[in-house]
Amino acid sequence: EFHPLATAVQPAFDAVQARSPHEPEFHQAVHEVLHSISPVIEQHPEYCDLGVLERLVEPERQIMFRVPWADDSGKLQVNRGYRIQFSSVLGPYKGGLRFHPSVNLSIIKFLGFEQIFKNALTGQGIGGAKGGSDFDPHGKSEAEVMRFCQSFMSELYRHLGEHTDVPAGDIGVGGREIGYLFGMYRKITNRHESGMFTGKGTGWGGAEVRTEATGYGAVFFAQEMLAVHNESLDGKRVVVSGSGNVAIYAIEKAQQLGATAVTASDSSGYVVDDAGIDVALLRQIKEVERARIVEYANRRPGARFVEGGRVWEVPGDIAVPSATQNELSIDDAEALIANGVRAVSEGANMPCLPDAAAAFQKAGVLFAPGKAANAGGVATSALEMSQNASRQRWTFGDSENKLREIMADIHDAAFQAAERYDVAGDYVAGANIAGFERVATAMVAQGA
Ligand code: GLU
Repeated sequence: EFHPLATAVQPAFDAVQARSPHEPEFHQAVHEVLHSISPVIEQHPEYCDLGVLERLVEPERQIMFRVPWADDSGKLQVNRGYRIQFSSVLGPYKGGLRFHPSVNLSIIKFLGFEQIFKNALTGQGIGGAKGGSDFDPHGKSEAEVMRFCQSFMSELYRHLGEHTDVPAGDIGVGGREIGYLFGMYRKITNRHESGMFTGKGTGWGGAEVRTEATGYGAVFFAQEMLAVHNESLDGKRVVVSGSGNVAIYAIEKAQQLGATAVTASDSSGYVVDDAGIDVALLRQIKEVERARIVEYANRRPGARFVEGGRVWEVPGDIAVPSATQNELSIDDAEALIANGVRAVSEGANMPCLPDAAAAFQKAGVLFAPGKAANAGGVATSALEMSQNASRQRWTFGDSENKLREIMADIHDAAFQAAERYDVAGDYVAGANIAGFERVATAMVAQGA
């Protein structure tokens, strides 16, 4: 199902398939990056001689562990925990933890691999990693979530540290889980080591804007792409999928910049609200009550719920897929294109299937891959690490300005890399090339 790659990069892909069969998401992510960087490799044969690609596609360290915990009835449950420490050439391993029943080795490896290039693009001195568990926080009691997090950390703590590996949240890991995980690390190690986890509460070492950063950043990136063509978000209609941390703040920022964000979704379906999503109500339902999205339509006059539907059938000028990987198919892309979509900014990691992404680019839609568009989250994590290291606290305004600057820099790095390699306007190639150049340079300098 994967088209052949250039001769210089095919061996690295073959090695991945031979050594790690049955990891389709990981193969998908590696294939895309290798395809994008083949012109760079052709100009730099030393990368092949030094085995840069073969090293890059094999994680530095892979940790898998048992997570036993007692449920409220006293019965013992077992989940599997993961931490894939992919690359530390640019800084300590950095990347989120995902708690979701779909989590498996392939998904964590794809996320960890993407994280290398994303983190390189931020320019913030952070390596790439990802972790998580197939534990499902939905429907669990507070006490169950706490016991699970404590058990998870009682194993993982030995691999972490502010200079070693710094986790954060992802799907299913928000402020509540981060609190329990950080608290357990503090108890086990007898260290209040703020910089070993990001996304902490703002009262105990967390940074302003970290919660909002991924969603805000994805919208800032869309703004940057539009600005190249002298266009803006003002008056645009925005279609967003998801209703978690990324979607909520993408909606908020789009509306602050004069657009109308009209949708949100979860695994049960989506809501459309032509007046613009009421962010306070959405937060109340998803973050406080942890209820289903239909509740939004029940309480908001003029909004409607579409059960089991695909949010991409709703017309919009801008699409911000912010739910999960491979959520937007070629059919969805064709529907959006037929409805005149102008730009797509991936808030989630790899939400568009490869043929969907290709269809957008072919149709001249501005397309920002997640590793560039959603890098604001991890970039702001790096700002949290700096504040922790220097015992400073920046204001919301200063932090948001810094995020805006970083997103503009990421945009420019991707844009210029694409121009240098004669694929102007291709942000997928540009982001992969710009991220790869930074990682490969450091790998060569530091030796095998
Ligand atoms: N999980 C987020 C991501 O996909 C954030 C990671 C972090 O802040 O370390 O980039």
